Amino acid sequence: LTLPALLAATVARWPQRDAVVLREQGLRWSWAQFALEIDRLADGLRRLGLVAGDRVGIWSPNRAEWLVTQFATARLGLILVNINPAYRLAELEYALRLAGCRAVIAAERLRGADYLAMLAEVAPRLPALQCVIRLGEGETPGMRRYADVLVPADEVDRAALDAISAGLGCHDPINIQFTSGTTGHPKGATLTHHNIVNNAIAVAAAMRFSEADRLCIPVPLYHCFGMVLAVLACVASGAAMVFPGEVFDAGATLAAVSDERCTALHGVPTMFIAELDHPEFERFDLSRLRTGIMAGSPCPIETMRKVVARMNLREITIAYGMTETSPVSFQSSFDDPLERRVTTVGRVQPHVEARVVDADGRTVPVGTPGELWTRGYLVMQGYWGDEAKTREAIVEGGWMRTGDLATIDAEGYCNIVGRVKDMLIRGGENIYPREIEEFLFRHPKVQSVQVFGVPDPKYGEEVCAWIMLRPGETATAEEIQAFCRDQIAHYKIPRHIRFVTEMPMTITGKVQKFMMRRAMAEELA
Ligand code: ATP
Ligand code: MG
Repeated sequence: LTLPALLAATVARWPQRDAVVLREQGLRWSWAQFALEIDRLADGLRRLGLVAGDRVGIWSPNRAEWLVTQFATARLGLILVNINPAYRLAELEYALRLAGCRAVIAAERLRGADYLAMLAEVAPRLPALQCVIRLGEGETPGMRRYADVLVPADEVDRAALDAISAGLGCHDPINIQFTSGTTGHPKGATLTHHNIVNNAIAVAAAMRFSEADRLCIPVPLYHCFGMVLAVLACVASGAAMVFPGEVFDAGATLAAVSDERCTALHGVPTMFIAELDHPEFERFDLSRLRTGIMAGSPCPIETMRKVVARMNLREITIAYGMTETSPVSFQSSFDDPLERRVTTVGRVQPHVEARVVDADGRTVPVGTPGELWTRGYLVMQGYWGDEAKTREAIVEGGWMRTGDLATIDAEGYCNIVGRVKDMLIRGGENIYPREIEEFLFRHPKVQSVQVFGVPDPKYGEEVCAWIMLRPGETATAEEIQAFCRDQIAHYKIPRHIRFVTEMPMTITGKVQKFMMRRAMAEELA
């Protein structure tokens, strides 16, 4: 199945039901209206001379134009290149150059960053880039306006668009998706229609999604969580998409759930934590919530318990995956026991294989931690323009090395113990930060906590914790250490503790431990 075929089926089935609600832009489209907007842009891009296989960048926060671009490019067989809204000059140029973008569609600005000025600066250095399309009202020399590219509704050449869509193959690339950059430089994963459409169908099934569902989407569209687990899962099931705003805001998210009678809510753990801690939490009506996905980084068990109890998300699931695997490989489903759904990432998705291996690539005994490898329809084609990295990541037999440490129990439930890169070795003992984080999370003053290793002259590495306290609380390192004593092994007790007011994060809400390690290494040197 190709993405245009998936969308066409949903539009034909539920033309008049809500497809998209964008609260900040004040837009509300049915599936039929959404399809028309897509065709207006697709025909505009076709008339600009863009042809199947050309790469088109999108650089914008969560706006209607992002969604329309996602499907308009797919309709023409163009390859969409998701550019992180947090990127600045150097990263923007890197992404556009790597993908060889012929066109880019960009917002004017976000939080004071002037996107158009940055584009004007890098464009002359990028010979492949022939066309910059800007959102919004103003005029910029050398750029087209999005509104001017749209073809008037009654002039759209649907027959031409249908002919192009019908000629697409499901193994054609649809997307170059950059990874989050949690461990360093983002990598561009090349994904096909087959990859992401099938993953969306599996994800929607695990949540028992139907056209009666209304999903609140506070996660960024540029990331696979937003574009596949949220948008495509809705398209696969006819569920409505509700966007609280351009960028994440806890209050706006709760208000959207409440006003729009949402039945489902997605988020990374940091988003759910912020929503639960919102000062006016009690004011919102969350009674219709049923399901949703928590994913993207380790999901604290305490947070999962709270979202079930306080947000009414009794059928919430945890999903585990990575951009390179379209993304989800493990997900609990509504019929797994609640306790399993709260404490594990569930079982492997249908049609996906998984193994846990040691450093030599040999399968380890059940329950032993090792690197997780996955295989199946969901594995990307490769990293765009990087053969060497691709060969490192996808090994013989088509296995994708996830770089994550996991255990899988006898019933197939998987626990993500941490990233291979984050495991630390202190005086010969392997330490998994996740375990210490889960423990410290239970301290009543702790709002969030990150644990990682820092260099130590005596033990090689020492345990370090960065802690954000709940509003108004104070604490000392000794107090936290005393809390650990006799509860966890002495060598796991954080030797270095810092109280911070924010953590270095990607725009997807993932904590960048490599930045913390770097800051501590400088401080301790
Ligand atoms: P980069 O590859 O650029 O360093 P990244 O790995 O964070 O960044 P993504 O592809 O967005 O980029 O994220 C995939 C990673 O997120 C996984 O490899 C895993 O470490 C983590 N992750 C995703 N879901 C979960 C989950 N449910 N529990 C624990 N970790 C998760
Ligand atoms: Mg990664």
